[in-house]
Amino acid sequence: MDQLKDMLHTLLITHKPPGDSSTYLQLLQTCILKNAFSQGKKIHSFVAQTRFAFAASTTFQNKLINMYDKCGSLVYARKVFEHMKVRNVVSWNTIIAAYRRHECPQKAVALFHQMQRIGFQPDQFTFASVLPACAKMGALEQGYAQNGFVEKALETFKQMQSAGVKSDSTTFASILPACAKMGALEQGMDVHQSIMEEGLFSDVVVASALADMYAKCGRIDKAGELFNKMPQKNLVSWNAMIAGYAQNGFVEKALETFKQMQMAGVKPNSTTFASILPACARMGALEQGIDIHQSIMEGGFSSDVAVASALIDMYGKCGSIDKARETFDRMSQRDVVSWNAMIAGYAQNGFSKDALKIFELMKPSGIYPNIVSFACVLFACSHAGLVDEGCTYFNRMYTAYCITHTVDHYVCMVDLLSRAGYLDDTLNFIIKMPLKPVVIVWMCFLAACRLHMNIGLGVFTAMLLFDLDPKNAATYVLLSNIYAEVGMWGEVRMVRRLMTDGGIKKIPGCSWIEGHKTVHAFCAGDRSHPQTREIYAKLEKLAWEMKAAGYSSYSTQSLNDVEQEEKELFLCHHSEKLAIAFGLLNTPSGTTIRVVKNLRVCADCHTATKFISKIVGREIVVRDWNRFHHFKQGQCSCGDYW
Ligand code: ZN
Ligand code: ZN
Repeated sequence: MDQLKDMLHTLLITHKPPGDSSTYLQLLQTCILKNAFSQGKKIHSFVAQTRFAFAASTTFQNKLINMYDKCGSLVYARKVFEHMKVRNVVSWNTIIAAYRRHECPQKAVALFHQMQRIGFQPDQFTFASVLPACAKMGALEQGYAQNGFVEKALETFKQMQSAGVKSDSTTFASILPACAKMGALEQGMDVHQSIMEEGLFSDVVVASALADMYAKCGRIDKAGELFNKMPQKNLVSWNAMIAGYAQNGFVEKALETFKQMQMAGVKPNSTTFASILPACARMGALEQGIDIHQSIMEGGFSSDVAVASALIDMYGKCGSIDKARETFDRMSQRDVVSWNAMIAGYAQNGFSKDALKIFELMKPSGIYPNIVSFACVLFACSHAGLVDEGCTYFNRMYTAYCITHTVDHYVCMVDLLSRAGYLDDTLNFIIKMPLKPVVIVWMCFLAACRLHMNIGLGVFTAMLLFDLDPKNAATYVLLSNIYAEVGMWGEVRMVRRLMTDGGIKKIPGCSWIEGHKTVHAFCAGDRSHPQTREIYAKLEKLAWEMKAAGYSSYSTQSLNDVEQEEKELFLCHHSEKLAIAFGLLNTPSGTTIRVVKNLRVCADCHTATKFISKIVGREIVVRDWNRFHHFKQGQCSCGDYW
C-alpha cells in the first residue's frame, strides 16, 4: 500500500506525467490487488483532468470499470460504463461480472440480453458470469419466476455450447443445480457427458454437483454409482448423497450413508443434520435419532436453531414428546420454526391442550405466530374435537394476527366440524369458502360422512370427488365402506367394479419399525422378511389370546376391495400387525414398540392393537398418516376418535 501511495504521490506532483496509458493501467491493477478504492479514484480524476488522449479509450475505461467493481463500488463502475463512447465485448463482460459479483443477478441477466440485442457475441467470459447469475436468480426467486430463471440458465448453457465456448468447472457447478431444480434429467445427462469430455469429474465440486443433480432428478441409483466412483469426497458430496437418499424415500440408505460418512472421518455440519433428522422422523427411527442427537452435541451444533428445531420435530414424530419438550426447553434461542415444531409435536401425539398452551406462550416470548403455527393449532383442535376453541382460533387468526386463511386452515376446520358431527354446518362452511375447495377438503368431509354414517351426503360428496379427482382410490374405498356399513352389498360390488374398470389401484398399506438400529418395512400380507415364519406364528398365537380376551374381528368396517373370504385373512396380516409382531419378537419385553404406517390405521387394527397392548403388557405407539396412537393397557390415547 505504501508503495502505491509513493508512486501516486510522485506521479501527481511531477510536472511531466507520462502520457501513455501503460503506467496508469498498471497503477489501476495495483489498486485492484490492494483493494484501494480512494487511490483508484484519484488516478481516475487525475487522468480525466489532465485530458490524456487515452483517457477515453475503451481499454482504459474497461480497466476503470474493473477497478471500481473490485474495489467495491458498483455505482462508480456503472457510471463509467454508462458514459463510455465505444464499448467492446470486454466492457460488457466487465459490467455483467460486476453486477453478478454485487449480488444483482437480475441486472446481470438483463445486460446480457441487451448486449446481444445490439449485436455483441457473448464469449466464454460472458457465460461464466451469466450462468451463475441465472442460477442465482433461480435460487432467490420463488415459484414461476424461479423456474423462469432456471430455464434461462439452461438456455444460456445451450447457447454457450452451440457457440463452441468451452465450459470450466465453475460453469458446470452452476448449471447442474439449475438442471436439478427443473428436474431436467436429459439436459443434466448432456452436461455429464461434457464433464467427462473435459475431464473434470475429478473436480470434487463438479462431481458433487453431478451426484446432487441425479439425486434431485429422481435417479438416486445413478447418483449412488457416481458417488462411489468419486476419487475425492468432501462434506458437500456426503451431504448431497444423504439428502438425496432421504428425499427419494430411501431413508435406510440415508442413515447408512450418514454412518459411512462418520466412519470416513468427515464431520457432519448443520446441513447434514437438517437432512438426516427428517429421515429419522419419517421412519420413526428413534434409536438412531438419539444417536444423531449425541453427534450433534459432540459436534457443538446444539445451539444451532435449525438443528434444534429439526430435533424437536424428529422427537415429536417418533412419538417421544418428552424428549421434544426437553430439547425445546434447553434452547437458548428459538425461532418460529422451533415453536411450530413443538406445537405440531403435541398436536400429533394427541396432547391438544398442551399444544394450545404452548401456542399461547409464543407471542409473549416475542415470536409472532405465522401461517404454520395456526395450522398446527387448528390441527390440535381437530384431533381432540375442540370445536369451540378451533372456531375461536380460526377467527382470531385474521382479526387479531392479520393472517389470511390458507387452504390448510380450511381443511383443518372442515375436519374439525365434520368429525364432530356438524355435517350440515360443514357443508355450509365449504360452500362459503372464499378459496376453491380442493380435493382434500371434500376428502375430509367424505371421511366424516362415513364416520357418522350419512349415506346421502356421502354419496353426494363421492360423486363430486369422482369428477374432481377420478383416479383417487381413497374415494372408492370410502364410498364402498359407507355402503358396506349399512349392508348395501350390491352397491359395494358396483363401486368395486368401477374401480377395476377404471384401473384404479389402492395405495398399498406399508408399516415400518426399527429393530437393531435398522428399519424394517412390511406391506400387507408381506412374506419377504427373513423372520416371516416367526412373525406369522406370533400373530397366530396372538389371535388365539385375543379371541380368549373377547376380541372379534370386524366384519364390515375394514372391508376395502377385498372379497369376504379373503377378508379375515387379510385383516390379520395388515402391515401394522406384521410390524408389531416383529417388534414383539425383537425387542426386550417391557419396552415401547413404535410403528409408522403410511395410511390411516384401520378400525380392526386399532381394536386389535388395544388388545395386544394389554395381553403383552407393552406400550405400542403407532403413527399413521397424520396422527399418533399411544396404545397402553387396552386403551388408545386418541380415545377412538381419529
Ligand atoms: Zn388394519
Ligand atoms: Zn387410537
